Amino acid sequence: MFLRLLLLGILVYAGARVVLWVRRYLKSLPHRSEVRISRGPGGVNEMVRDPVCGVYITEKESITAVVKGREYYFCSAECRRKFLEDQG
Ligand SMILES: [Zn+2]
Repeated sequence: MFLRLLLLGILVYAGARVVLWVRRYLKSLPHRSEVRISRGPGGVNEMVRDPVCGVYITEKESITAVVKGREYYFCSAECRRKFLEDQG
């Protein structure tokens, strides 16, 4: 009976050590899956998509154009120009 308790104690101790080790290991990994949202003074910046090249940019960084009452966001003046040309 005593031996069983001792074994149980060892198992619990070993388990705790493994949990600590795994936690430390996970912390040391780079957080690749972490979604990075840039925060400005106004809070979280909305991500918008450039309809020309398909790139995502923050609303703050983008160049906007209003076509037929709708607002479009572009990564560069070049993309904006292309888009406006396509509109005719
Ligand atoms: Zn673009």
